[in-house]
Amino acid sequence: MKFNPADAIQDLQYFGEFGGVNPSISDSSTYTFLSAKTMFDTFEGNADGCYLYSRHSSPSNLYLGQALAAMEGTEAANVSASGMGAITPTLLQLCGSGDHIVSSRTIYGGTYAFLKNFSPRLGIKTTFVDITKMDKVESAITSETKVLYCETVSNPLLEIADISSLAKIAKKHNIKLVVDNTFSPLSVSPAKLGADIVIHSLTKYINGSSDTLGGVTCASREFIDSLKNVNNGANMLLGPTMDSLRSASVMKNLRTLHIRMKQHSHNAMYLAERFEKDGLKVVYPGLKSHSGHHLYKPRLRSRNFTR
Ligand SMILES: *Cc1c(COP(=O)(O)O)cnc(C)c1O
Repeated sequence: MKFNPADAIQDLQYFGEFGGVNPSISDSSTYTFLSAKTMFDTFEGNADGCYLYSRHSSPSNLYLGQALAAMEGTEAANVSASGMGAITPTLLQLCGSGDHIVSSRTIYGGTYAFLKNFSPRLGIKTTFVDITKMDKVESAITSETKVLYCETVSNPLLEIADISSLAKIAKKHNIKLVVDNTFSPLSVSPAKLGADIVIHSLTKYINGSSDTLGGVTCASREFIDSLKNVNNGANMLLGPTMDSLRSASVMKNLRTLHIRMKQHSHNAMYLAERFEKDGLKVVYPGLKSHSGHHLYKPRLRSRNFTR
C-alpha cells in the first residue's frame, strides 16, 4: 500500500489517563520509581514506558515524537524546543573534531551560520555545494566526510533537492544523508526516498500558529536513542528540551496539518500563477518555469492530503 503520511498521523490512537480522547499532559520534571531495579533499568534504557527526568524524555514529548515519526515513516523521533535545537544536536551527535560535512549552500540562515561560524570551533569543517549538481556533491566528499546535508525545499530560495539521487551517493560513501523537511511536511517524505535522518522546524507549517518554536529529529530507533543517551547523547546533554505543555499543543495542531497544507499549496499556486501572468519574476516549484518542477511535481501529485 502507498505510504500516506496524513493517514499515518490520523491512525494513531492515544487515550488519556482517565480515558480522555487526547493523551494526558505530563506536568512533571522528574519521576518516581516503585522499585530501585526499575530505576537502574531506566538509566540503562531497558525499561519501556518508564521515565526518569523530563530532559531525557516525557510522556507528552514521546507522544508528539511518535506522531511525527509516523508522519515521516521513521522508527522513532525526538522533539526539541526549536528547529535549531534539533539540527545542532543531530549534527554534533554525528560529527566530532576532524569530521567533515558536505552541505547545500542554499540552506536556512541559522543552519548556515552554525556550519560556517560555529562548528569549525569544534573542529568540524563544512564544504558548501550546489546540491542540484550531483558531480559537485560527490567530488566534495572526502574520507573525513560523515554527513551530507540539505533541505528538501530550501528556505528561502525554494531549491529542490533530488533526495533519491543524494541518498544513492550517501550510501555509496557510507555517510548519513540528513534532510531538513521544514518546507514540505506531508508533501515529500525524505526517509521513504532514502534519507537517513529527517529534521523539521515545527515552528513553521507543522505547528502553524506562530505561537511557539519547536523542532524534531526523525530517524532509526538506534539514532534517536543515541541522542537521548544519559552518558553521551547530544540532546540529553545540551538540553534543548521542549516543554510538555507545549508539545501537547503542537500535537493538537498537527491534527489539522493535512488540511492546512492543502490550502497553503492552493493559495501559493494561485499567487504564483497571477504574479507570473503579470510579468513578475516568480520562484515557485509548482510552476513549470521552476528548475526543480520536474522533481517536485510527481511527488506532489501522488499525494492526496485528504483521507
Ligand atoms: C525556521 C527554520 C529552521 C530553524 O527553526 P527554529 O524553530 O527557528 O529554530 C530550520 N530550518 C528551516 C528550513 C527553517 O525554515
